[in-house]
Amino acid sequence: MRYYSTRAKTDPVSFAAAALTGLAPDGGLYVPEEIPPYRPAVLSSLGTMEFYDIAFETIRAYVFPEIPDAVLADLVRGAYPFSAPLVGVGKRLVLELFHGPTAAFKDFGARFMARAFSYLRRGEERPLRILVATSGDTGGAVADGFYGVPGISVTVLYPKGRVSPLQERQIAGLGGNISALAVEGSFDDCQRLVKAAFGDQALRERLVLSSANSINVSRLIPQAVYYAAAAGKVLAGRIDDDGEATPRLPGREGRGGGSPAERPLIRGGEPLICCVPSGNFGNLTAGLYAMKMGAPIRGFIAATNINRTVPDYLATGNYEARLSRATISNAMDVGAPSNFERMASHFSYEEMRRLIRGASVSDDATRQAIRRVHQSYGYFLDPHSAVGWEAAESLFPEAGDEPGVTAVLATAHPAKFAETVEPLTGPAPLPRALQRVMDRPVLAQTIPADISALREALTA
Ligand SMILES: *Cc1c(COP(=O)(O)O)cnc(C)c1O
Repeated sequence: MRYYSTRAKTDPVSFAAAALTGLAPDGGLYVPEEIPPYRPAVLSSLGTMEFYDIAFETIRAYVFPEIPDAVLADLVRGAYPFSAPLVGVGKRLVLELFHGPTAAFKDFGARFMARAFSYLRRGEERPLRILVATSGDTGGAVADGFYGVPGISVTVLYPKGRVSPLQERQIAGLGGNISALAVEGSFDDCQRLVKAAFGDQALRERLVLSSANSINVSRLIPQAVYYAAAAGKVLAGRIDDDGEATPRLPGREGRGGGSPAERPLIRGGEPLICCVPSGNFGNLTAGLYAMKMGAPIRGFIAATNINRTVPDYLATGNYEARLSRATISNAMDVGAPSNFERMASHFSYEEMRRLIRGASVSDDATRQAIRRVHQSYGYFLDPHSAVGWEAAESLFPEAGDEPGVTAVLATAHPAKFAETVEPLTGPAPLPRALQRVMDRPVLAQTIPADISALREALTA
């Protein structure tokens, strides 16, 4: 597969070049020259295939021939020992994307990216240094994905004192080839420092630098997998039972918990509508890819907090980037979504309007949704997933009103945002994997928000 910049359909590059450089030289984002359809045999068995087999079938055309089939098969097995259960919560469906090691959906992209980088750089002598700025979730997923990968080290920059204790241990608790810099400043300062490092001649002479942010196409493509898997299950009329990490009160588990009248309406034969809590819109873009590949998806809900650039665009046709505003769903505090350029390169405004409905949700409504869902079904939503729940409720008050079956994507485990969730619900269950993370030390070095301090830390 060849990749083009969103800004110019000239100078195509390979998957390896697109993945390892991240951003195109003209400042655009890389997009594949075509979105390859699933094989008919795959489409007819999506509902019963293993998750990593769907991953293999979804990803292969995008990386062929640079990652041969046999290598890819091993790679996805290693990347995805977990999957994305589709569970019933009252009359609705929730697609749980938080069963990976850092308990947020970014594990799906980061774990594939790390393994792909490792393979694509085999035989290289100079080690690769990945710099990543994070407001919380990305840093943990990237650190975990690359931990122990030979020939690659990662430096995560995060705003000191502004990530949760759990997130800090996910970022700074690993050691080894992962180092963490607690920057005395904001997330914007961290991003500015990473940009400055890429432009710093002295650093570029000493280190081979790369980035791992959400515009990277190698993080985007694997996110299409769980959409296809969920759409296959809905079409087959099948949902999953609760598992160990499903955040539900004991005794309320399984098939929506409530009376038969409260169980999800899933008859089979219907297409899926995906309600996607969104910030930079990488997740929703990946869903559009899955749909274009042929997965039985009818449409999307773009659920945002008050940073409503895309819902406003869908309503008016005018795209106006803004400054971001702080909310309790802070991984979605994005005023200028970086993947919008990619969406717009594949779809016209009219097409987007036909496929996507926008909804913006306030912090108050988000809190009420967390409380209501917990009271009614014993199920814990994290603040990001609650934005999705509330968006679906506001557009389709009665489950069954919509022209398909709606699944709300749950993008993080509630225990990751316990400081917001627990005052509304009481203690939230903490999965074993997250309990172990809390025992890690914090191995971060604190630096002031300036490039000379970063230069020193990187070359020490
Ligand atoms: C990153 C993140 C989002 C936003 O995803 P985008 O792909 O940037 O739209 C939503 N929820 C959580 C928990 C996240 O970490």
